[in-house]
Amino acid sequence: MLLVYTSLVYIGCAAGRPQGSHAPGDGHIPRETLRTREVIDENNLENAYDYVIAGGGLAGLVLAARLSESNTVLVLEAGLSGDDVADRINTPSGAYYSSIVGTDYDWKYVTVPQPNLNNRVISWPRGKILGGSSAMNAMYLVRPAEEELNAWQQLITSDDADAATNWGWAQMYAAMKKSENFTEPRADVAQVGNIQWDASTHGSGGPMSVSYPGIMMAIVGNWTSSLNTIGVPPLPNPNGGKTFGGFVTPSSINPTNWTRSYSRSAYIDSLPPRPSNLHILPQATVTRLLFLSDASADGWIANQVEFAQDSSSTRRTVKVRREVILAGGPIGSPAILMHSGFGPRDTLENAGIQMIEELPGVGQHLQDHLAAGVVWQSNIETAGDIHASHSDFAQSPEFLSFINDAIAYVNMTNLMGADGASTFKQQVQSARENSSSTIPPPSSDSSISEGYKAIYDVLTNTLFDQVSYAELVMALTSPGTVTIQVALQHPFSQGRLYVNSTDPFGPVVIDPQYYSHFAGIKLIRQLGAALGPALGQEMSPGPNITSDQDIETCGMLPRAQGGAVDSKLRVYGADGWIANQVEFAQDSSSTRRTVKVRREVILAGGPMGSPAILMHSGFGPRDVLENAGIQMIEELPGVGQHLQDHLTAGVVWQSNNETAGDIHASHSDFAQSPEFLSFINDAIAYVNMTNLMGADGASTFKQQVQSARENSSSTIPPPSSDSSISEGYKAIYDVLTNTLFDQVSYAELVMALTSPGTVTIQVALQHPFSQGRLYVNSTDPFGPVVIDPQYYSHFADIITMRQGIKLIRQLGAALGPALGQEMSPGPNITSDQDIETCGMLPRAQGGAVDSKLRVYGAANVRVADSSVFPFIVAAHLASPTYGLAEQAAVLIQQEPFTVPNSARTNIRPLTEVVSLVVGLLTAVLVFT
Ligand SMILES: Cc1cc2nc3c(=O)[nH]c(=O)nc-3n(C[C@H](O)[C@H](O)[C@H](O)COP(=O)(O)OP(=O)(O)OC[C@H]3O[C@@H](n4cnc5c(N)ncnc54)[C@H](O)[C@@H]3O)c2cc1C
Repeated sequence: MLLVYTSLVYIGCAAGRPQGSHAPGDGHIPRETLRTREVIDENNLENAYDYVIAGGGLAGLVLAARLSESNTVLVLEAGLSGDDVADRINTPSGAYYSSIVGTDYDWKYVTVPQPNLNNRVISWPRGKILGGSSAMNAMYLVRPAEEELNAWQQLITSDDADAATNWGWAQMYAAMKKSENFTEPRADVAQVGNIQWDASTHGSGGPMSVSYPGIMMAIVGNWTSSLNTIGVPPLPNPNGGKTFGGFVTPSSINPTNWTRSYSRSAYIDSLPPRPSNLHILPQATVTRLLFLSDASADGWIANQVEFAQDSSSTRRTVKVRREVILAGGPIGSPAILMHSGFGPRDTLENAGIQMIEELPGVGQHLQDHLAAGVVWQSNIETAGDIHASHSDFAQSPEFLSFINDAIAYVNMTNLMGADGASTFKQQVQSARENSSSTIPPPSSDSSISEGYKAIYDVLTNTLFDQVSYAELVMALTSPGTVTIQVALQHPFSQGRLYVNSTDPFGPVVIDPQYYSHFAGIKLIRQLGAALGPALGQEMSPGPNITSDQDIETCGMLPRAQGGAVDSKLRVYGADGWIANQVEFAQDSSSTRRTVKVRREVILAGGPMGSPAILMHSGFGPRDVLENAGIQMIEELPGVGQHLQDHLTAGVVWQSNNETAGDIHASHSDFAQSPEFLSFINDAIAYVNMTNLMGADGASTFKQQVQSARENSSSTIPPPSSDSSISEGYKAIYDVLTNTLFDQVSYAELVMALTSPGTVTIQVALQHPFSQGRLYVNSTDPFGPVVIDPQYYSHFADIITMRQGIKLIRQLGAALGPALGQEMSPGPNITSDQDIETCGMLPRAQGGAVDSKLRVYGAANVRVADSSVFPFIVAAHLASPTYGLAEQAAVLIQQEPFTVPNSARTNIRPLTEVVSLVVGLLTAVLVFT
């Protein structure tokens, strides 16, 4: 049944059950309830287990299910079971309408203030519950590209031959499929959503259900075609090793009852009973691992795991017969390792933790998919509107299974154009040495920057032209708005996380060292335009980019450099041709008239008008005149070229004071007085590169821009049949990079008080390195002038503008209480896919685990969760984490380790040793 519902199309309820025939809560397809069979309490704990898994999240529960087939397994999970919120978790759209983010089931991590984001603190929700983040995630099921996984393999194979047989696309593809049971979309859903898929790229018979929602929105059907118009092709077989393109993604949905399929429901609740093999203990935070006092040839042997319910509870231990598997996720696993004495020397010393094994890579190489978005008013009914209606349909399982699924992965050419991407590639390549010495957070060990370089080389050389660098997703789940988000997929920035005390319940310091990124936002706006009338006005960040100072379209430059006039402002070629009449008309339909000239014609039509007059008079670039059908009198390639502009962007705050705009809106007598009406914005500043970037930053930036000269001059000036244009570009470039760089201002700041309720500070680029052109395309002088300023075609303009925005925010802070909350661009930045804090990399490159996931220096401790991924991939991380856990289960069972039956004392942390020694000394003193 296909129902047309204004401009939204959705598919109704299940066959045989007409829309609206059931009362709320009645007649729903029964949902699988969470079972509590394997979940135990402390009283039922055994003394020892073959495997103890720290963390019952996505990977932890996959491993629990696989290893407990033939071993005894204990899972210690810090969070609650989740039974109390089963319905919120199981309902797919619960992720949007009744999310457990921000509740007690969320760790509610925050980063330290991020200097490149106006010192904003970014929230990092992460699941603290059985199922971990798979119980709260947005359920997108998207795999990485083949090239990315092969690059993982190569990174670790350089040190460890086993890696070639354990990791890489072939192995991970098989492991990801093993975890899945794919069901095709309903025919009507597929038709409305224009969904394409290739069932052979999916698994069948695995524990995790993969499918599509029970209804579909019409606008989703326009997604791939709209993307196509902006150069992003449809991807007919997502998940088969290629990610570039637009598609409607499958999700981890169970279509038999329209519920979330996540690691608990998929891998644990569906198991046949294993009461003696599998124990899962919620509310048990692993505080540290205890090791035998002598390391074996293979390294330290963990024989006990310590845990507690909370910071005030008694700590308990459980013995390990074979191995400890850390599956606490990218934050939990490195924290457990550090509290157990494995980590960077300086971190452990500062925190007062006794070091057992110096492992500088623990917590390092932190990367994240930072996301920001553009929000439009919606001209169609969104899923968010339907949900807010509380209608019967809004409460049906089919409607509640609808989650956002329109997605695209775009490459550098989409983001920057072919020429821009090539320039950018050279830029990042040439910045390698500088970046690797400044970007990885300070470490006493050189392996961290070696690892940074190894990953950098993969990103700039192997992957740059092969894979996607940004993800776009369309969100329809808010009432009244449509949002498209862009998320960086391969950040060049890297941060770290660390602990700063001996308290395992204390905070983890998360410092991802974020950058912001302009190029993605630009692409989103193009896509918004392509989606057409469904989208209304852009609401956020809003249209606060303006232009008002364009110049140099008839440049006074040497003719060989694309000049149009000489130093006496005479049009080149016009001392040959003599103008004797000027033609004019009132409008396009009036009779054209002429007037005779006795001496000279002076063109003062401005940067748009003058070149247009020249071109219509036959003076201009040959190709322009030919295309427009204008008879050429003098070939003058420089007319309309070298177009530059003072591009402007701004930050808007709520105003805590009355603004001129408020007074004007009051229509009071004062508001209409000539004195008040004479008030115009007048607070202004010109700032130099040192203000924008700091002295060191300016000097590095200058070198980068200088070294980009040849490439920029061959790619940035718009195509011209005449070499004089790029000669002129170079000449101007040299002035900007050599003569003026240290001398003059490169940005202007202006404060605007003329809007009601807000204060805006704008930054305007003063010396853009981008150049465009304008031209006419017909013989009609009343026809349009084509203006193509090629904004941001040079990377330097993007960076300068970004620094300008940062400077504005500092200025806003200095202006104090007059300014309220920032409204635009605003804090719409999120994070949910962090990785690589226990990286599978060579030890000499800051790795924490080898290709069998064994922690370097430990004989029987592995990390098996998303924290081991060598670098972040352009995908969602659940699918590769399922694959990783499946593969880890195989590896672990290939070579089972057995802890020797030793009575030797465990290593104790320094604090305990100190208090023991103090106790002994006191006893000795008392008794002597
Ligand atoms: C809000 C959000 C949305 C997301 N959306 C998507 C999406 O749409 N698609 C997608 O593919 N991916 C998504 N992800 C990412 C994906 O869910 C994660 O990458 C994946 O769950 C990571 O699996 P993991 O096993 O490494 O960690 P987790 O699943 O986070 O599991 C770690 C577990 O360890 C526990 N733990 C931590 N420390 C300790 C300790 N000391 N002792 C005991 N237990 C501990 C935690 O409580 C948690 O249960 C999203 C993530 C979030 C947070």
